[in-house]
Amino acid sequence: MAIKHVSVIGAGAVGASTALSLRRAGFEVTLIERGEPGMGTSFGNAGYLSTSGVVPTATPGILWQVPGLLMDPLGPLTIRWSYLPKMLPWLWKFVRASTPARAEEISKALAALLAHGHDCYRELLGDADFEEIAPHRGILYVYETDKAFDGSKWSNDLRARRGVKWDYVPREQIKQLEPSLAPIFRHAIHIPNMRHLKDPLRLTRTLAAKFAEAGGEILRAEVTCIEREASGAPAVVTSVGRRGTDAAVIAGGAWSLSLARQAGIDVPLDTERGYHATIKHPNVAPRMPVSSGDHHFGASPMEIGLRLAGTDELGGLDAPPNWERARKLLGHGARMFEGLDTAGADFWMGFRPSMPDSLPVIGPVPGNDRVYLAFGHGHLGVTFGAVTARLITDMIAGREPLVDPAPYRADRF
Ligand SMILES: Cc1cc2nc3c(=O)[nH]c(=O)nc-3n(C[C@H](O)[C@H](O)[C@H](O)COP(=O)(O)OP(=O)(O)OC[C@H]3O[C@@H](n4cnc5c(N)ncnc54)[C@H](O)[C@@H]3O)c2cc1C
Repeated sequence: MAIKHVSVIGAGAVGASTALSLRRAGFEVTLIERGEPGMGTSFGNAGYLSTSGVVPTATPGILWQVPGLLMDPLGPLTIRWSYLPKMLPWLWKFVRASTPARAEEISKALAALLAHGHDCYRELLGDADFEEIAPHRGILYVYETDKAFDGSKWSNDLRARRGVKWDYVPREQIKQLEPSLAPIFRHAIHIPNMRHLKDPLRLTRTLAAKFAEAGGEILRAEVTCIEREASGAPAVVTSVGRRGTDAAVIAGGAWSLSLARQAGIDVPLDTERGYHATIKHPNVAPRMPVSSGDHHFGASPMEIGLRLAGTDELGGLDAPPNWERARKLLGHGARMFEGLDTAGADFWMGFRPSMPDSLPVIGPVPGNDRVYLAFGHGHLGVTFGAVTARLITDMIAGREPLVDPAPYRADRF
């Protein structure tokens, strides 16, 4: 049976990109979202459209660093101890992904997607909207201490091995490159080929609007179940009724697990919760995003204000936010920028959809080529939205995939 109609579940950066890409390829497409498009994790991220994200989260030696990091409840990485038993299998796979050989393989698989990240968005959005939504200004990684800089050596060498261009910026030149910074940084790395979003919500809203303009249907509903008809085609059970379809794409971000299980595959998807503080009138105007190598957060100049975003909290989907983590970002920001006015910041928490090996799941459910998986993009879900859309479209349309999809298959664990 030929595929004519596709249901895409979830309208974050990944689902909205996928729906638009499929529609442009000639499919009838329904994009099903229980809330507003773009209001999930794609709402509040740091907005980096990365080219340098070739470094997996689980790097060699992480096993020895993690216990120390976890001890500080307001540090860059923490765990809700009540969630530890549930997360142990994920953590075990995380540690296994951190061997030098596996980290190198993962880095290559990340690089393969990153190589097309910008071009795929340009194709979906068009030149003018892409330039407007995601300006090209580069990024600066700054280090207050020699220890933090020395600790980044492995990551920076890995970037060089993957062909990511970066330049070392000595202390005396840092302020020339980014005048808004306080004079506390001893080292910096400049990565010129980076873009960032003026507002991540605007990206997903634009994708959804283009999808609707192209004749796509947006259905406001919660998908509660994916069933399989006798013909093998899926049926999508939603809060507003059951709908037959020829193929379904699960792009529900951190909430994708139960739907994937219903479709026949169990994957180690969990969440790394992150926070932001967005300051509407910060009184400073950085030229480009700045990332702290000491405190592991990013500061992104956006049209909606200055966003300080980051931190990693292992705590599942249900625990309430710890707003102290967001408030702490304000302190780090005030140290980074001279004269930062932190008054009136908005706080937010979001759920990175994370696989233990830092690689997304992109492709069909094994043994069921009518249900596709497009989730688990972790720290890079906005960056990978359009390239994921292209891969899923290639697969459903029966075209040669732009990138070898083997590293992202669902049954790799
Ligand atoms: C603090 C922080 C900073 C980050 N910074 C960056 C960055 O700089 N660059 C980057 O690339 N990435 C970044 N990320 C990661 C990125 O935000 C995520 O990986 C990405 O947003 C995931 O997109 P998604 O479309 O998969 O999920 P989401 O944006 O969460 O979208 C999933 C959607 O599916 C819907 N949904 C789920 N289940 C159902 C259902 N059953 N029925 C109907 N609808 C459903 C949800 O309502 C939601 O709208 C950051 C994340 C955090 C937390």
